[in-house]
Amino acid sequence: MGGMSTDPRTQATPDETYDVIVIGGGPVGENAADRASRTGLSVAVVEAELVGGECSYWACMPSKALLRPGAALAAARAVPGVRADPELDPAPILARRDEMVSHWDDSGQVQWLDGAGISLVRGLGRLVGEKLVEVGPEDPDADVDDLPETRLLAARHAVIVATGSVPVLPDTPGLAETDPWSSREATSVQDVPPSIVILGGGVVGVEMATAFRDLGSQVTLLSRGRLLGRSEPFASEAVAAGLKTIGVDVRLGVSVTGASSLPDGGARLAYDGPRGKGSVAAAQVLVATGRVPRTADLGVDVVGLEPGKALAVDDQLEVQGVDGGWLFACGDVTGRVATTHQGKYQGRVVGDVVAARFGRAKPGEAAAAGADGETPEPWSRYAATADHGAKTQVVFSRPEVASVGLTEAEARKAGLTVKAVSYKLGSVSGAVLVAEGYEGTAQIVVDTDRQVVVGATFVGPDAAEMLHAATIAIVGQVPLARLWHAVPAYPTISEVWLRLLETYGL
Ligand SMILES: Cc1cc2nc3c(=O)[nH]c(=O)nc-3n(C[C@H](O)[C@H](O)[C@H](O)COP(=O)(O)OP(=O)(O)OC[C@H]3O[C@@H](n4cnc5c(N)ncnc54)[C@H](O)[C@@H]3O)c2cc1C
Repeated sequence: MGGMSTDPRTQATPDETYDVIVIGGGPVGENAADRASRTGLSVAVVEAELVGGECSYWACMPSKALLRPGAALAAARAVPGVRADPELDPAPILARRDEMVSHWDDSGQVQWLDGAGISLVRGLGRLVGEKLVEVGPEDPDADVDDLPETRLLAARHAVIVATGSVPVLPDTPGLAETDPWSSREATSVQDVPPSIVILGGGVVGVEMATAFRDLGSQVTLLSRGRLLGRSEPFASEAVAAGLKTIGVDVRLGVSVTGASSLPDGGARLAYDGPRGKGSVAAAQVLVATGRVPRTADLGVDVVGLEPGKALAVDDQLEVQGVDGGWLFACGDVTGRVATTHQGKYQGRVVGDVVAARFGRAKPGEAAAAGADGETPEPWSRYAATADHGAKTQVVFSRPEVASVGLTEAEARKAGLTVKAVSYKLGSVSGAVLVAEGYEGTAQIVVDTDRQVVVGATFVGPDAAEMLHAATIAIVGQVPLARLWHAVPAYPTISEVWLRLLETYGL
């Protein structure tokens, strides 16, 4: 372990002691706490803001609430027989979004913690020594009258860090002075700006471009590279085309060089683009250029780690570089996943590891969870194995992009011999029924040596719902010859599986 702090706080008597302390009560921390408590361990969750985390109030839930009406309208318009030409109405869309985030009130989730017998400690948690967490006001300079007093918590067995991530603001000259939004202000928008320029063509940029266009803004999307740069290139192209169809001004290969505020309250961004210098003005700027693990204010230096960096973990989610088997991490803060579902999977794994190693588990479970230094079996409940080759992601753009496992390029880079086969979804009867002129593509990446699927991407309306079959094929390492016997129902879009296998040569 790196040098421990000689901070006098570590000599102090703890105010409270729990078996396990979870720092961060987002979706991932909640899952870790729930599983960790199942063998009788006492568990506390330390939360600085709202129980439920970014996902519940400023990320997944509000963004999907904003996007669903546009998708529903597009689906209705794609079939003849829908009578009047329906339109989107921003006020009820925003009202439903407010409902979906429980009006930024976490009492429902707090009730759930109570019901699960988990203690909630409000405040910002910081590591101050081995198994020691100091909890204080979120902003150390804030007026502390209404805030909890600083308390020292001790963990008998383990501390699990699930502090998530924070958005990055690029140091572009003038940008900070334009008062740009991050995804928080965008997903909690009350007054829709007449125009918005979005920096960043990743998932958040693409989804917010769609949502704000649906809400009636003029939208310009600036992206340094292709959109959704980690997806299959055909997915990037389809999403760029989809955005242009709904009227988003998409500018690719653009690098923002400066920003200035306009007298009327908006901002102008200057950039270098493929055709030289350019600029764009809008009433609002949204920065969606990525997120970093939240460890800057966590006190990780006391255990010899570098603040601001991801907490590197093994498959049991034990933090690397810290001895003693007491510090774990899961979710965005690990830098290995950036989705709620994959983080919750890690939360389940780490919670089970901690419950088995330190609680009243069944005989043999502690050893199976690696208590005696053995490495748990790769596909046991004590290993986050799916993080490596079976991560899933859905982008709720129009068209949707759903993917699992490796892209063709990633598979080749990993040294696999692969063949990618794709098929137009619009040629499948199920898709023709869903929408006139359904446009979409499905692709599987097959490891030709092992004859198993190692990656899949679906692009098209409602493509998200097709993803799980591919996930099961990949996680189960189902040989293609056996997959042939998984007969898709007629007339569903899933019949594309049959077409893909035929195209592959079965
Ligand atoms: C706009 C947007 C849309 C997204 N949409 C999706 C989607 O549709 N599907 C999907 O799977 N993912 C989506 N994501 C990603 C998803 O939000 C994250 O992967 C997920 O929230 C990570 O969960 P977490 O619990 O690790 O972190 P968070 O949700 O960030 O929760 C961390 C919690 O820890 C608390 N905290 C942090 N530091 C401390 C501390 N020191 N002491 C006490 N508490 C602390 C925070 O207040 C927060 O409540 C989206 C992200 C964004 C930005």
